[in-house]
Amino acid sequence: MKIKVLGCSGAVLPGHNATSFLINDDTLLDAGTVTSVLDIEEQAKIKNILITHLHLDHVKDLFFLADNLIGRVNEPISVLSVKKVLDGLREHFFNKTIWPDFAALPNYDSPLLKFVPISENEPFPIGGLKATPVKVNHSVEAVGYIVEDGDVGIVYTGDTGHTDDIWRLSNKIDRLKGVFIETSFPSGMENLTSITGHLTPKGLALELKKLDRKDIPVYISHIKPQYLDEIVSEVKALNNPMIHILSDGEELIF
Ligand SMILES: [Zn+2]
Ligand SMILES: [Zn+2]
Repeated sequence: MKIKVLGCSGAVLPGHNATSFLINDDTLLDAGTVTSVLDIEEQAKIKNILITHLHLDHVKDLFFLADNLIGRVNEPISVLSVKKVLDGLREHFFNKTIWPDFAALPNYDSPLLKFVPISENEPFPIGGLKATPVKVNHSVEAVGYIVEDGDVGIVYTGDTGHTDDIWRLSNKIDRLKGVFIETSFPSGMENLTSITGHLTPKGLALELKKLDRKDIPVYISHIKPQYLDEIVSEVKALNNPMIHILSDGEELIF
């Protein structure tokens, strides 16, 4: 499994892109940053888009991607998430006011986007992969994903505060090879962190205790770049050799 980090920041500033990971060139995990980093041919290869939740930093490039690809691809692109998230995308964004309804363009019979509801805790086949949405603990309805191919499983929390289900399910994945977890704020901002449903480095350490295996690489995303130095030094102080802080543009092979 190949994962390219298109963006892994918890806010948008020069050099810091909103969250999006590209798996095996054709599957997106969140769509915060796509059209500013992939060229049009690369964008046209995308067949599946897994969305964790409705916050703009995870969906905003879905709209520009649709706009770029209309008339360029023949098969509909699947946008997958739990029903509440898909309903929200259609109601609040693809509502013909904020943005066109690309599930009805260029026509209803052969639209650009196809919304595919998937159920929590149930693996769903997409391309050569299997994706399982798992409810996490954010300020809005949100899921993380366990993504597996024949050889490898990875877990991606998306945005979350303290949570349990995703670790319970991850602990059952024999071929778990990577954990992608958010750490948004420094520990001094615990109050704001818990109100907004995120984690600090202190919270990260508590979450990682729920992971049975301690030999799995842990990739940190969604750091607020305004607090980057503080968060990085707090994460380093955890002295966990398996932790790696992600950067935009990085490519990981599992
Ligand atoms: Zn969020
Ligand atoms: Zn976010």
